[in-house]
Amino acid sequence: MANERVVLITGGAKGIGLACARRFTGQKAKVIIADMDEIAGNAAAHDLSTEADAVLFVHCDVSDLLSVRNLFAQIRSSFGRLDVLVNNAGVVAAGNILSLELDDYDHVMGINLRGSFLVAREAAKQMVAQIETEQDSNRTYLSQYAIINMSSVNAVMAIADQLAYVTTKGGLNQMTKAMALTLAPYGIRVNAVGPGSVNTDILKAVADNPDAKQKILSRTPLGHIAEPDEIAGIVQFLASADASYITGQCLYADGGRLALNYTVEPA
Ligand code: NAD
Repeated sequence: MANERVVLITGGAKGIGLACARRFTGQKAKVIIADMDEIAGNAAAHDLSTEADAVLFVHCDVSDLLSVRNLFAQIRSSFGRLDVLVNNAGVVAAGNILSLELDDYDHVMGINLRGSFLVAREAAKQMVAQIETEQDSNRTYLSQYAIINMSSVNAVMAIADQLAYVTTKGGLNQMTKAMALTLAPYGIRVNAVGPGSVNTDILKAVADNPDAKQKILSRTPLGHIAEPDEIAGIVQFLASADASYITGQCLYADGGRLALNYTVEPA
């Protein structure tokens, strides 16, 4: 696979997205980090830039149409193309069906689902335009093009007090399938990754609380909370030619949680 692929990672300033950015820069890809967090985004781009290649940070709110259009205008002017999208930005908000505020519901929907759609739509149009003008069948055969949506085990299991979040991840899995069907004839593969519990800011409140952490581990047969790089490796695989026959799937990396009914036996 060509090394010079251009890779966009939303929510790439921290956590899983940052680990993905590190993986792709390690492969000498050209990386764009799009994130709301200007300080963390600039720091990430600075840390990951090499003498040969600069990582581009673009301030972007994925839920905002103009912000997403501006992001793609910058990608086109800086690199002229896009090969891989890691659609990763996501947020949580506590609340169940009796307690969730509408503002919180809209906020989570806006970033996790509307934002994923807005970015994927621009990316898909850009990729299709490239494929149609380049008429470069080699790229298609080599699975040059890939979109990876960051889903969750919560796409298929539920946390009562994360009603909005689990709803978005279920929706994202369906969006993955529908996109995969439309883009398959172009050779663009669309997949999702479904992490269990990963050591990032989103999980901090839970991971820092010993009782809550014990509850997570009681539902994690592999016995540890994942590091972000354990998820980034799967993203890298799904973007690679080794995954050339995979599309429309969600690959779960959950330490065994989905296989487990009840809890892990205490050690
Ligand atoms: P994180 O909080 O470390 O990173 C999320 C990033 O998204 C941050 O850099 C944040 O600034 C950015 N972001 C938030 N709103 C944005 C917006 N409107 N526009 C652009 N960027 C925005 O969390 P993380 O754990 O790395 O989460 C990344 C993805 O992984 C999310 O989609 C999350 O749902 C998913 N996920 C995480 C876990 C976990 O346990 N950490 C498990 C399953 C799925």
